[in-house]
Amino acid sequence: METKREKILDTYSGLTFKNRKDHVVELETDHTPQEITANKRSVPGLMINRGCCYAGCKGVVLGPIQDAVTLEHGPIGCGYYTWMTRRNKARGINGKSLIQYSFSTDLQETDIVFGGVKKLKQAVKEAVEIFHPKAVFICATCPVGLIGDDINSVAKWAKEEFGVQCISFSCEGYKGVSQSAGHHIANNGLMKDVIGTGTNKPTTPFSINLLGEYNIGGDAFETERILTKIGYQVVSKFTGDGVYDEIASAHLANLNLVQCHRSINYIAEMMKVKYGIDWLKVNFIGIKETIRTLREMAAYFDDEGLKKRTEEVITEELTQIQGDWDYYKKKLSGKKAGIFVGGSRSHHYMDLLADFGVETVVTGYEFAHRDDYEGREVIPDIKLDADTKNIEQLSPEKDESMYRRYIDDDTYNELKGKIELDYYKGMMKDMKKGSLIIDDYNEAETEDALSLYKPDIFYSGIKDNFMILKSGTPAKQMHSYDYDGPYTCFKGAINFAHDTFDEVNAPAWKLLTPPWNTEPTLEGSLGNSAIERGEQHA
Ligand code: SF4
Repeated sequence: METKREKILDTYSGLTFKNRKDHVVELETDHTPQEITANKRSVPGLMINRGCCYAGCKGVVLGPIQDAVTLEHGPIGCGYYTWMTRRNKARGINGKSLIQYSFSTDLQETDIVFGGVKKLKQAVKEAVEIFHPKAVFICATCPVGLIGDDINSVAKWAKEEFGVQCISFSCEGYKGVSQSAGHHIANNGLMKDVIGTGTNKPTTPFSINLLGEYNIGGDAFETERILTKIGYQVVSKFTGDGVYDEIASAHLANLNLVQCHRSINYIAEMMKVKYGIDWLKVNFIGIKETIRTLREMAAYFDDEGLKKRTEEVITEELTQIQGDWDYYKKKLSGKKAGIFVGGSRSHHYMDLLADFGVETVVTGYEFAHRDDYEGREVIPDIKLDADTKNIEQLSPEKDESMYRRYIDDDTYNELKGKIELDYYKGMMKDMKKGSLIIDDYNEAETEDALSLYKPDIFYSGIKDNFMILKSGTPAKQMHSYDYDGPYTCFKGAINFAHDTFDEVNAPAWKLLTPPWNTEPTLEGSLGNSAIERGEQHA
């Protein structure tokens, strides 16, 4: 009998089948990773959900830093595309935050023909004079890469001319295969020119950086509230509610917490080499995951007072939400979910849904790499292709003056197997036999997944959201949370359950009938089945 995976792939012609077959995996055993192809070029013509390299650099990593001007050098379309679509919140510094602005050089045809450097210099000048930012980040788009504007020399000029930090990012949209390349480029820039330059020394040994938390819907605010209540000092956040000077002082913290592994693991790894700071893979999405995270943090710092306070805060927070947790568990238990978002977040939300008895039956990522699915142990086996080699690989060296270890080697080795220290296990180890995982999913595959798995709710990206809603399936857009949130920690989990419950039970769904319930599904193939054709091609 044809498996669900085969049914999805069987709609493809030979060459597309050949490309897609290794991106779609149906788990054969519980909690056991299988090899998946990821971080490869998408098939032209398929409606995918990825963003470009520039979107990853400007839109994801740099954009949320609230006291920097992130200036898009290119046509306004690119600027608009990355403008606040993720609802990164920021407290503001003295009531001021620059993230609600979209800064662009708004290149026109004549600039493309005669060059845009003059316009870029003028834009930097205006940005500095009007907004007095802590830094200016110049982000290149596709046309700028093609015409060859020298953004590096403009950044150098601006530094000398205005005495303000100015960094150029060659993150043209066409680099790499997705926004993931842009994350890497932004990580490199922050590591080279920002981290290590600040002097905000923490006042407690329990000092941490929160990496890969973009404060969508206020997630970082809620996480910071819990961490501060326990007694941690959050030195910096990368980059939701991010502050330039705090990021510059990140090297003075004692532990890095990695929330979104995909977008920020480069900085975590480089800081480990250069400054000796260990990193811990955390997850503040989900009640049980938050508890696991808090206990692993306490185990790392190994302080009796901190451990006690951790348990007190867990008990306090649980007491406040227990009634709601029980209520929503009763209401949602047994439901099935599909999740396709990001490069780490599907895994996070899978854990949160499990808290309420909801099983994730079909999932995947837009821009993940193999290690995000299978665990970091596969990294040595990943062959770097030309697209990845095109991205600068920094090799920082130990900084003798600033390098320090918080724990000694024996303690490190003892903790290593017990907690997710300098390690991420990946998504598949938390999934059951029969679950379907699709890398770089497209709209055709999403339609098939909806029809084959019939999830009660679908947590989607931006582009696929409306087609899912139109199919009559409750869906939540996880890039902006559909104006809801926060969803982190204890109270956030209840917000999420409440919104999920509302979404699933909205009366609107009774007015819509999924097309596969009333219309015949078009079936057919060219000659042999695609599976056979693909095997012939392979
Ligand atoms: S792919 Fe290129 S043109 Fe399109 S938004 Fe990204 S940078 Fe702009």
